[in-house]
Amino acid sequence: MIVVLKPLATQEMIERMARRVEELGLKAHVIVGTERTVIAAIGDKRNGEKETLEACAEVDQVLPILAPYKVASRETKPEPTIIELGLFAAGGPNIGIIAGPCSVESEEQIMETARLVKQAGATALRGGAFKPRTSPYAFQGLKEVGLQLLAAAREETGLIVVTEVMSPQDVDLVAAYADVLQIGARNMQNYNLLQAVGETRKAVLLKRGMAATIDEFLLAAEYILDQGNQNVMLCERGVRTFESHTRFTLPLASVPYLHQKTHLPVIIDPSHGTGHAPLVAPMCTAAVAAGCDGLIIEVHPDPSKAMSDGPQSLTPGAFADAMAQCRKVAAALDRQLH
Ligand code: PEP
Ligand code: MN
Repeated sequence: MIVVLKPLATQEMIERMARRVEELGLKAHVIVGTERTVIAAIGDKRNGEKETLEACAEVDQVLPILAPYKVASRETKPEPTIIELGLFAAGGPNIGIIAGPCSVESEEQIMETARLVKQAGATALRGGAFKPRTSPYAFQGLKEVGLQLLAAAREETGLIVVTEVMSPQDVDLVAAYADVLQIGARNMQNYNLLQAVGETRKAVLLKRGMAATIDEFLLAAEYILDQGNQNVMLCERGVRTFESHTRFTLPLASVPYLHQKTHLPVIIDPSHGTGHAPLVAPMCTAAVAAGCDGLIIEVHPDPSKAMSDGPQSLTPGAFADAMAQCRKVAAALDRQLH
């Protein structure tokens, strides 16, 4: 249920109502909006909770939430969630640009990439230190050394750091260095991991599983939100289909569809979504045209030497050109690249 409080509810009134909701055996998620504060009351409703809450003086109305994902739903929070971290902003009028290599490989590689993507307009640096690889024999990432290199690149450039965490036991370590915790496609339904990142207050970039439906995707986000972490961004990175011309099939209709269903920002990954560098720039501009709130793009100083995902990585020059195109499309739609 959504417990809509009266306009101008004071902090004391909000806290009193949240306690009242919890006394009824429901979980209270307080969502402070621009116009009103609402409390999403989640849990098994037996009898009469709606009427009990409606009778409270602080309450304007009590509405059922129809979507299975309660806190992620637009019904709960009509206005968009905006994630703001340093130079980076995603949601509302802001389009956040996350760029960098698939994997952190060396100090020289990550520093050079960070400088060049910053110059071209990126506001966040990506780079995997813990890499989920299909083959156990492939490069698995530099682990903590990789995290230290990302932090050094942030120190020099001011870019915020987005990096993947693969298991619940690594969450504290990765969170000590990262600004945004990335949950990879292969881990979208790792519920222990979702709960573990939900217990932190770090922003989370949740990637769609390659065979997950949108409802499964939103319910995965709900696991994070339900732990009290409201800083979730959804990332469409393509799904597996019968088509083999592209590595995955990138459904850009996910952007307007997710915007209808949820207030969370939607980030597009055209690198994994296509698997081929020449297709990345057109999909960046198309994603901006479709209304995305951010892009995550693989960029490598020398893609031919990349230790992972070279074929889909842009050179810094191609990335700069793609950003120039995106800025034009964004401006036409009254949005801004951040
Ligand atoms: C990545 O971002 O490098 C990655 C492994 O992505 P995904 O989890 O979407 O495959
Ligand atoms: Mn990759």
